[in-house]
Amino acid sequence: MSYQAQIHPSLAATALPAVECQGVTVRFTTERGTVTALENIDLTVPQGSFLSLLGPSGCGKSTLLRVVADLIAPTSGKIRVNGEAPEVARRNREIGFVFQDAALLPWRTALENVMLPLEVGGVRRSSNRDPRELLALVGLSGWEEAYPHELSGGMRQRVSIARALVSGPKLLLMDEPFGALDEITRDRLNEELLQVWESTGTTILFVTHSIYEAAFLGQEVLLLAARPGRVRELVDVNLPTPRRLPQRETAEFVELAGHLRRVLETC
Ligand code: ADP
Repeated sequence: MSYQAQIHPSLAATALPAVECQGVTVRFTTERGTVTALENIDLTVPQGSFLSLLGPSGCGKSTLLRVVADLIAPTSGKIRVNGEAPEVARRNREIGFVFQDAALLPWRTALENVMLPLEVGGVRRSSNRDPRELLALVGLSGWEEAYPHELSGGMRQRVSIARALVSGPKLLLMDEPFGALDEITRDRLNEELLQVWESTGTTILFVTHSIYEAAFLGQEVLLLAARPGRVRELVDVNLPTPRRLPQRETAEFVELAGHLRRVLETC
């Protein structure tokens, strides 16, 4: 079966999908044997959409992000990122990655951390974004000269999001970026991330363990089942936009979360 996530209304005319997976299988062989992390994944993610990836531990969520980002190669199947091989998209800096750990360099200020990919890349590209503007976008105006140890966990993760956006990627891959934060900070960052998404038009693939986070953020939620990692269901999130936190208390949201939970129980 093939799964197609819905398109962002402002990008309805854009032709090439942001991500396309056809029959993607990833196997890892270790001394303990072979694990099928992903089996035969078919997925189309249109430009500008926000897709949440939800599933139990070990269902291949991180592996899916890593094959799309060209950090690992699939065992079989085909992947396209903006119509190109992931390797080309990576080299062209079309892909940004945010991990659970902000991984900032402690001896560099917030601004210097955001600027790092531009220095490493060396090339001035028209897609590059102004690091100060990005820090403002993630709510860190006035913190440009602060060092990581002066920032809270949430602020450090905001810096890492700004850093991932500095080369102007068309695709942002986020692997449980808020998993280590307290609930209130996580809620705030969820809302802020949607504002970043709305203002940049970047396609986002967002891995989470949290049903509420997946439902609140995504236009669709891709539910994966484990052993082997496979698509269980693509759930449309039909909630009004722009999303704001109080919506999580509405009957529609509670019903959606209940559905996700019931499917998850079978994954
Ligand atoms: P998730 O992100 O959903 O928790 P992962 O993508 O991390 O799942 O892992 C999927 C499966 O692949 C797991 O069984 C995991 O143990 C296995 N796996 C992931 N990466 C490797 C690796 N580098 N070597 C061996 N097995 C791996």
